[in-house]
Order: sequence, then C-alpha cells, then structure tokens
Amino acid sequence: MKEELLAKIESLRQDATKALASFQNLKELQEFRVHLLGKKGQLTEVLKGLSGLTPEDRPLVGQAANQVKQDIEARLVVLQKTLEAKDKESLFSAQSIDITLPGLDTGRGFRHPLSLVNEEIETFFLNLGFSVYEGPDVESDYYNFEALNFPADHPAREMQDTFYIGGNAAPSPSPLLLRTHTSPVQIRTMKNQKPPIYMICPGAVYRHDDDVTHSPMFHQVEGLMVDTHIRFSHLKGILTLFCQTMFGKERKVRFRPSFFPFVEPGAEVDISCGLCNGKGCRICGGDGWLEILGAGMVHPHVLEEVKIDPKKYTGFAFGLGVERIAMLKYGIDDIRLFYQSDLRFLEQF
Ligand SMILES: [Zn+2]
Repeated sequence: MKEELLAKIESLRQDATKALASFQNLKELQEFRVHLLGKKGQLTEVLKGLSGLTPEDRPLVGQAANQVKQDIEARLVVLQKTLEAKDKESLFSAQSIDITLPGLDTGRGFRHPLSLVNEEIETFFLNLGFSVYEGPDVESDYYNFEALNFPADHPAREMQDTFYIGGNAAPSPSPLLLRTHTSPVQIRTMKNQKPPIYMICPGAVYRHDDDVTHSPMFHQVEGLMVDTHIRFSHLKGILTLFCQTMFGKERKVRFRPSFFPFVEPGAEVDISCGLCNGKGCRICGGDGWLEILGAGMVHPHVLEEVKIDPKKYTGFAFGLGVERIAMLKYGIDDIRLFYQSDLRFLEQF
C-alpha cells in the first residue's frame, strides 16, 4: 500500500515535469492544474488515500505527497507568469497592434459661419435689452407689403420681387408669398403688444435674385425700437455701436439718405472699408465705403396701421443681411459658398 502510493506520487511528479515543459498557453496550464490538484485531481486522490495507511507510514507518504504538491504548485506559478507575459507581448506585438499609431479621428463639428454671425448679432441686441421674435416664412401680402406702406401698385415692390404661393384652397383676399424681409414679424408684434417694444427678428427671407452676391434665399436680422421720444439720434447711436462691435472700433460709420416705404426718413448705413481704410480699393468699389444695412424712423402710416398713436410714440427700424455681414467679416466673395456644405469651406470658422 505504502510502496504503491509512493510509486504513484513519483509517477505524478514525472508526468508533471513533462507536462510543464510542453504548455503553450494559459488554458493548458489551468486544465492541468485542475487535473492534478483540483478537488478530484490525481494528487488530491493520493492524499485522500493516506487514511488507509498505518499510522507509521502515513507521515512519510504524506510528506512525500506534499513535497511534490508544493514543488509543482511553485513551478506552475512561475510558468503562469511567463505565459501571461508572452500573451501580453503577442497582443501588443507589431503584427497585431501598433500602439504608436494615432487614434481614429471621429471628426469635430463646426458651427456654420451664418450661425456664428447670427448669434453675434443677437447677443449684441440682447445685451441692450432687445427681445428676439420669430414669424412664418410664408406670409400674406398684407403683412409683407401692405401693412408696411407698400400699396399694391407701388413701384418699391419691384425691388423685392418674390415667390407667390399658388393653389390656395380658398381664394384669399391677401395672396400668400415667401416673405421678402422679416419686417412682417414687426407688424405682428406691434399688433399684439403695446410699446415700449425693443425687438429683433432674425430669419430666412426670399427674393427673385441669384448671382455671386445675391441668393434667392438669405437671412436677415431686422430690429425695431418703439417708445415715447425715440429719435434719429437713438438710431444713429445704436447702429454705430453695432457696426463698431461687429467690425472694430476703428471703422467709421456713415448714414446716407435712402428710401424704404415703411420709414421716414430712411437711411443706408455704410462702414469704412477695412482693406483700404477709406482710400478706395477693389473690395469697396473705389469709394472707401461698404454698405452694411438699411434703417429709418418708422413711418407714421405703419404705426397707424397697427393702432399705435404716432403722436405719442415714435420708433426706428433697421434691417441687415446676415450673409452680407459674414462675407465682409470673413472676406468671402461668393454667397453660394454658405449653402454648398463644402467642408473645406465650413471647417475654417
Ligand atoms: Zn476699400
């Protein structure tokens, strides 16, 4: 019995020595560990067999079994470390992964230049206490023209030729069209609330134009300030501050008389050309000035139309093209670049 067990222990030791030399990976090693030292492992069975021995033989065989067990366990630990290191090495070896390669670029998003400029304009007026209003792109002739002092046969309509929406289910007394400016939002606001009104209305507008500086769809921000005692000097002060905030304090601002049916007097506002400092160059067409926006004192007819007493209240209004501001600010010479979704263009902002 004793000899039998000692022979078995010796044979297990030899088997283990052979096996340990042949393992290629951790899985084989784990399997062997269970096979030999697990709950039902071969060496564990030998240790269980000790109870059948005489008290004199038991310590001797037990010692031999434990010696082999400890010896194998120690060698398994060393081998396990070696195999783990080998695994790691093959994982990071040049054949599988080059850890020096840069990561995959998921690409960063960019704000559209028109959104940036629009936000800059809104921030300027919000800081002065103006509110932002929006209105529908499809308007009635009444809100787009008539209420703004453009009678049906007025020649000023020619400057704002637009797209009419046909096929109305019920014939409308006021045809539907795509708005040519965001001024209808001013009419809607003045009809809904009493002065004081300090507002801007950003949004898309539509005109029958299409070339390198005009698009059939573009963006405007219009503004309106109606209160008691609003004078032309308020208009000049606020718009001068606006132009110098957008383009720089060093730019000069000038007001030229102009005509818009909904204001009286009306003005066009220019800033000095940033390229030639007012001397005249290709960009400014030689006269040193760049047109930025239109403005004026709200026409009494418009105030009467929205039931605001022009004897008690006065106001000024202005309108500017967001594309035009963006083109001048960033030196862009073709308006169509804004709508072509070309990343080489858009990534620059
Ligand atoms: Zn110039």
